[in-house]
Amino acid sequence: MPANFIQDLIDEHARTGRFGGRVVTRFPPEPNGYLHIGHAKSICLNFGLAAANGGACNLRFDDTNPTTEELEYVRAIEEDVRWLGFDWGERLYYASNYFEQMYQYAVALIRKGKAYVCDLSAEEIGEYRGSFTVPGRDSPWRNRGVEENLELFARMRAGEFPDGAKTLRAKIDMASPNLNLRDPVMYRILHARHHRTADAWCIYPMYDWAHGLEDSIERVTHSICTLEFENHRPLYDWFLDELGVHHPQQIEFARLNLSYTLMSKRKLLELVRRGVVAGWDDPRMPTISGLRRRGYTPEAIREFCARIGVAKADSVVDVAQLEHAIREDLNRRAARVMAVLRPLRVVIENYPEDRSEELEAINNPEDPSAGVRRVPFSRVLYVEREDFREDPPKQFFRLAPGREVRLRYAYFVRCVGVTKDPHSGEVTELRCTYDPATRGGDAPDQRRVKATLHWVSAAHALRGEVRLYDSLFTRADPEEVDAGRDFLDDVNPRSVEVLRDCRLEPSLAAASPGSRFQFERLGYFCVDADSRLGAPVFNRTVTLRDTWAKIERRQVGR
Ligand code: ATP
Ligand code: MG
Repeated sequence: MPANFIQDLIDEHARTGRFGGRVVTRFPPEPNGYLHIGHAKSICLNFGLAAANGGACNLRFDDTNPTTEELEYVRAIEEDVRWLGFDWGERLYYASNYFEQMYQYAVALIRKGKAYVCDLSAEEIGEYRGSFTVPGRDSPWRNRGVEENLELFARMRAGEFPDGAKTLRAKIDMASPNLNLRDPVMYRILHARHHRTADAWCIYPMYDWAHGLEDSIERVTHSICTLEFENHRPLYDWFLDELGVHHPQQIEFARLNLSYTLMSKRKLLELVRRGVVAGWDDPRMPTISGLRRRGYTPEAIREFCARIGVAKADSVVDVAQLEHAIREDLNRRAARVMAVLRPLRVVIENYPEDRSEELEAINNPEDPSAGVRRVPFSRVLYVEREDFREDPPKQFFRLAPGREVRLRYAYFVRCVGVTKDPHSGEVTELRCTYDPATRGGDAPDQRRVKATLHWVSAAHALRGEVRLYDSLFTRADPEEVDAGRDFLDDVNPRSVEVLRDCRLEPSLAAASPGSRFQFERLGYFCVDADSRLGAPVFNRTVTLRDTWAKIERRQVGR
């Protein structure tokens, strides 16, 4: 793990002996949605710091809000953390397991005169709180006696009051310049069924109260959270100091923001609910499960997280940097194959009808150990429709009438004729001749061609579906929404293009869901879960064009 300010702090604690040399971190998702790439940053950081310091990292479900949480999310989160390559071993925890202990801690604060039952409504609490410029006012219930508070709190727990009738609040300072310290609510009444504790509770702890206790109970040493909790830290500290319990160090870092990417779970849920995407694992989603289905590897995501580093100031990372990471990884390990997405038929007039042959193709030029394979060639082939122009513009070097090009691993071919649909005028077929002396793709007379095309043999080709993706939002910052607009207004109407009549080289017949390939000249693709035997479906993970590599070169002045 590269040096960062959090590691510096851990080193300092090691020197001063603050936690007896122990390092315990945690990743504390609320199971109210699927994990996204921002969570990946937090996972890599927490598990990474624990590993680098001989410590441990807990996976803790922060399940204190019964109305939005579900078992489905718990399972998905576990799967995603594991897939990313991290192991929590025995250290799986649920905040809901601590409800009784939290309750007892609250009773202790009431006994100390540091918490009280308040009858103000949520709206009134808001009014009494004041603002940055207006100091708060004391609740009329602030000076209830300890005995009365204990009795009322017990009756809250017993279910004697309806939702919203009362709260338990910390008694701190209604004039504090930090609004979080103006007698924050610790418990609210909520008659709701919890996915783990069922109907055992009708009062539920608020985040600020619960989170520090969870950390303390688990004897976490370094509680790493995102920047927006910085001004909650005095409250985190206040609760633990008043209780006199184990006191972890809260440390804030800048959350990951990615251009063209939304990371609010609430909004991601809305995309799913409204059917804008096919589900949490839609390959356009920034979720871990979406990235996985799209073809991302855990290695690429971890590398990306390592490269962006951790900072103390918010910024937006270019999504091209994430794509750069997956390209680099797949370039090293994805097998190259040939696939034609928008097929145009080519007939090699001087190639015998009854003949076919197998040509040798390199599986991965980056990895000689990947070896070679044989690709069938015959009289009728398919090439990419966009690799032919009847009337080629100046910089177009691919096929055109009279023009010779190389077919990768095969022969030089020359276009000698064009067949068109008599009604639409559309080109339906190219007539070509091949030069048998160029087998393998080189001319003995050193004759040169300016383009090399991919192709597949029509008789041997596999038919398949290919899904091309573009970013889900047209706006670089989809979290920012102009007045009168909704974030859904910025959804890209062309975020997916489905091509149903693609032709793939026959070696792909055995490819299983999740396997990844480079389609030569087209990008990296991954077999989708929708694939059936003989009817493969591929997702394009990323194109070959690397805009980030260019930016990086420019930055270092190369
Ligand atoms: P919401 O979208 O509802 O605000 P959340 O993203 O905070 O939820 P949690 O389940 O509470 O979701 O997050 C679990 C952990 O992941 C937290 O410690 C949080 O700080 C971290 N985390 C969440 N989003 C990001 C992000 N974009 N970058 C880095 N860490 C993040
Ligand atoms: Mg949160």
